[in-house]
Amino acid sequence: MPELPEVETVVRELNDEICGDSITSVEIFRSNPIVQGDLEAFQNQLIGRSFKSVPRRAKYIVFHLIPSGHMVAHLRMTGKFIVCGSIDVPNKYHRVWFHLNSGKMMIFDDVRCFGTLEFYKKLSDSKALNKLGIEPFSENLTVNYFKSKVASSKREIKSILLDQQIIAGLGNIYVSEILFHSRISPIRITETISQKEWAEIIKYTKSVLKDAIENNGTTISDFRRVDDKTGKFQQFLQVYDKKDQPCTNCGILIQRIIQHQRSTFFCPECQH
Ligand SMILES: [Zn+2]
Repeated sequence: MPELPEVETVVRELNDEICGDSITSVEIFRSNPIVQGDLEAFQNQLIGRSFKSVPRRAKYIVFHLIPSGHMVAHLRMTGKFIVCGSIDVPNKYHRVWFHLNSGKMMIFDDVRCFGTLEFYKKLSDSKALNKLGIEPFSENLTVNYFKSKVASSKREIKSILLDQQIIAGLGNIYVSEILFHSRISPIRITETISQKEWAEIIKYTKSVLKDAIENNGTTISDFRRVDDKTGKFQQFLQVYDKKDQPCTNCGILIQRIIQHQRSTFFCPECQH
């Protein structure tokens, strides 16, 4: 599943490709992504609007439009946007085509079809966006923020870092990596985490994500960039998907455990 760095990579490329362009028509080949249900309303709201900017909020892609309106997309497992020249025949995973005034097309492609597209006149009407916690790169992400939210929590630290209502945008790959760099075990009970350890978690949250963005994200499973090239951060992963490989720090074999039905990778020697 794409995580924050992958989505950041996508929005940077979308900004370059489509800002200033406008939507001339919308073809829907499968209705699933249009979660609000009314396909004709979705098409009519978009036709004639142009792209002002395409930022990210957590793992959501927000297309700010002119005249005022917003398309909010979530890629979920396998969704991706492809911007290309005009083509005539959709492939079997093309769900929605956006024809643009420049002659280009923006294609929403989604093998497993869990991705979503929504239109909002006012962004504040999006319940999903309203519920999101702090952005990892926010200046307001501080030790005090975490302490005010979860200092006395009995939950495991991994589940706190995956909780989108506390910190938005982290997923399984990067939480494993952040905790490895922070030298903190994924099964640590959150209330035992010290001030100094929170500071390490914050430091490595920012640095791991920054490095991943600089390498265009990690290509595991179906994530692809807009231009269909792959990201290369997986070369820098220390623990994720490294079961039984030696830790780069101590040589002990990396372990894999299951937490809340998801794989967690960590070094039993380096992480406490
Ligand atoms: Zn180690």
